[in-house]
Amino acid sequence: MKIKEVQTELVPIALKTPFKTALREVQTLDVVRVKIYLDNGIVGVGEAAPTPAITGDTQESIWHDITQCYRPYLSGRELSHPINMLTELKELVPHATSAKAAIDIAVFDALAKQAQQPLYQYLGGKQASLQTDYTISIGSKEKMVADAQGYVKQGFTELKVKMGLDDPEVEVAKLKAMNQALDGKIQFRIDANQGWEPREAVEIIQSWKGLPIQFIEQPVKAHDLDGLAFVTKNSTFPIMADESLYNLADAQALIQHKACHMFNLKLMKTAGIQGALEIFQLAQKEQIPCMMGSMIEGYGGMAAAVHFAAGMNTLAYNDLDVPFMWKLTEQAKKQMGFTISKNTLTLSNQAGVGIWLEEGRA
Ligand SMILES: [Mg+2]
Repeated sequence: MKIKEVQTELVPIALKTPFKTALREVQTLDVVRVKIYLDNGIVGVGEAAPTPAITGDTQESIWHDITQCYRPYLSGRELSHPINMLTELKELVPHATSAKAAIDIAVFDALAKQAQQPLYQYLGGKQASLQTDYTISIGSKEKMVADAQGYVKQGFTELKVKMGLDDPEVEVAKLKAMNQALDGKIQFRIDANQGWEPREAVEIIQSWKGLPIQFIEQPVKAHDLDGLAFVTKNSTFPIMADESLYNLADAQALIQHKACHMFNLKLMKTAGIQGALEIFQLAQKEQIPCMMGSMIEGYGGMAAAVHFAAGMNTLAYNDLDVPFMWKLTEQAKKQMGFTISKNTLTLSNQAGVGIWLEEGRA
């Protein structure tokens, strides 16, 4: 399988309501789609979602890196040793994990298509369906309580709650109010998106003692591993690393510093499936539970994340709620490669990532 051509295009994705965290607010987005045309007729499809506040990658930088740096490198390459190729690709441009993820997903899509298997099966997965939590955006206490009740009514049994912008007593009160409104029946995942200082984080976490909390995600700044270790040591709930974890070296550093109990994997951070696999394998060895997460992404990026999660069989948690935030047009339903209902995502049995292309050459 030789690469003939690499094409990029922007795909607009509309959200039902804006998404707000301690780092950013997203209303609509354009994702960068990559199509790798192979000489046997297979088209590998991948996508990157720009998240400047997190990865530092903008739509322009992703477009530039793919068209100017990766495209010339990929043209004419043989896909028989994809891992070597993806490793070389990482060295071409520093960072730029989103652009690399788009290429990596397209390569894995092509490999799974060649094997005539859906990507999750190609990765060893057994089940086409999985369940996700739903994320409550930052808002007033009353709005967050109402949102939580609404999503539980829709069928979600676990809620992820965005925090990190308010004073500690407000953060504490918000979660207590949500828990009370839901009669203590729902499991919470808290994500501070680096919004707290280490001592403040410990104070907030101690005030939540006894609440149904599965874990606390990224309480402090990404690079403050000592601060993260301090919170981890003093927390009654497990601490999960997100913005502190991009690659295998980060995972090793987190383990060495005893800086967290759990990992959050996202393809846009790990530069795609190969990077996520490396971290997951280390996590399995070290008995560190992992969650599959995502940025606010488009059809291809989400489908790849769902395939990865299903492909690993033993992931502890899934935070793959973005498809429930899309405006589900007929076009979207046709393209996205999986279906959603209540809190469940079900992958199609199409080979590869399952994204439907206009040109029908997938
Ligand atoms: Mg997070």
